Formats: sequence, structure tokens, C-alpha cells
Amino acid sequence: MIQEIGEGRFNPAYMRKNPQEDDILLHYEYNKVMLIKEGDGYRLPAFRDLKGEEDAVESVSYLFSIDSKGYYLADTFQMPEFGGFVMEGLQIFRSFEPMEDGFAGITGSQIYRWRESRRFCGCCGGKMAPGEKERSMVCSACGHTEYPKISPAVIVAIRNGDRLLMSRYARGAYRHYALIAGYLEIGETFEDCVKREVMEEVGLKVKNIRYYKSQPWAFSDTVMIGFVADLDGDDTIRLQEEELSEAGWFTREEIIEYPPYISVGHEMMKAFKDGKI
Ligand SMILES: [Zn+2]
Repeated sequence: MIQEIGEGRFNPAYMRKNPQEDDILLHYEYNKVMLIKEGDGYRLPAFRDLKGEEDAVESVSYLFSIDSKGYYLADTFQMPEFGGFVMEGLQIFRSFEPMEDGFAGITGSQIYRWRESRRFCGCCGGKMAPGEKERSMVCSACGHTEYPKISPAVIVAIRNGDRLLMSRYARGAYRHYALIAGYLEIGETFEDCVKREVMEEVGLKVKNIRYYKSQPWAFSDTVMIGFVADLDGDDTIRLQEEELSEAGWFTREEIIEYPPYISVGHEMMKAFKDGKI
């Protein structure tokens, strides 16, 4: 999975720090990120890459570290015309080398989107600015405080003996098979959410719901909570056609592999194929 870069390497604790030459500068515009193009590949820019262009960046915010390397978000930035800087779509991070920079790049984009969407206070319309003591946005007029947007969603591998339920979305760019998933509603437990989503999307009942793993999924400001469950009773699928175009039961042999396994959903499909769940 995309966040699996090695135990204890990623440190998201809030701190106020100043960048060193080898630290990484993250700059985003809407759904694009600034990278340096080198040969056929891309890499994240370090502060040392700004040599001669230091004035381009007025202020930066420390975001997190991987090992001793700090990752900083440019508050304001004028992209230099020289030095190979380019803007690329965030989907590039789905298969980025090294994967830790893909994870850092997409995680930084979640903080960027949240800050951009909290520039003004929802209570009084005043200007908001980053908090001093924690990762927050604070209104300069009324003090209203906002914390990062992380939306929980469940994803579930439903087993029916030696078959797994997989489906295809009716809309969006993603055309491969996937597991049933959906956002948590207010007042709902994860287990209740699994039961509701499965009933809504494919008209099935499930039992033996057990936790698998969780995963930060910054592409959609989500944390995915993965579960495995067993079919309870009738296996007749009643499709919610607004959400899904197709769903069915697949044997281990029928499951097609789509590496790399960057998402918890794909990891669960692979684990079922390999007889591990
Ligand atoms: Zn306010």
C-alpha cells in the first residue's frame, strides 16, 4: 500500500521548523504538483534546487518528515522558469519512484487542499491563518478553529465460501473491478456502515464483520477502513445502478491482478486470491 514505506519512518507530528538544503519543497496549484523533470522521470524538488531563485519562495510551512528529511509546503511561490520545473497532475503519485515521495506528495496535497478551502471562516467570513501550536486554521476575527479534513470510509471484502464479491463503478475514470465501499454517515459505527453500504449497493446481508487494515487515502481526503465479512443468507445480487454498473461473485482463480497494490482494496483482493483471507 502507498503508505507502507517502512515502520516508523513517517513522522506527521506538528512542529515549526525551518528548511535545510536537502529538505523537500512541495508546491501545488489546484490538482497539480511541481516536480523536476530529469530524463524520462520526475522527482520532488529540494530547497537546494532553488539556487539563484531563493526569492521565488517567501514563506513555507513545515508539514512532516520521512526519516530526517523534512517536507515543506510553499505558502506563496513563483515557479522558476529554469531548472526543469514542471507542473504535473496528482495521479502521477499512483506509481512514483521512490514510493515514499509519492506518499509524501499526495499527503502534502491533502494539507494544501484543506488549507486552500479554509482561507475564510465559515462562521464570520474573517480571514483564517495556520494555527501556532497545532495543525489547524484559525480565524483572525472570531477565533473559530478548523482541523484537517479526513473523511472516513469503509471498504469490505465479502466472502461467499470460495468466492469474493467484486463490482464496477457506473461513473468516474476507474474501470477495474473493486470492492464495495462508501463513506461513513454521522452517528454510524464502521460495522453499521459496512452493513448499510452492502445492502444499498448490492442488496446483500453480511455477518462476521472483522477489521482488516486501515489506510490514509489522500487522493480523496479519505481514510479507508478495510473489513472482511461473510455473506449472510441469499446470494442474489440486487444492483444499485446509480452507483454500480456490474457486480458478481468471483473465484480466487478469476480475480485479475492489477499491481502495484497501492490501495487497501486491491491488497484485500490479492489476499483473497492468494488464500490469505
Ligand atoms: Zn470567524
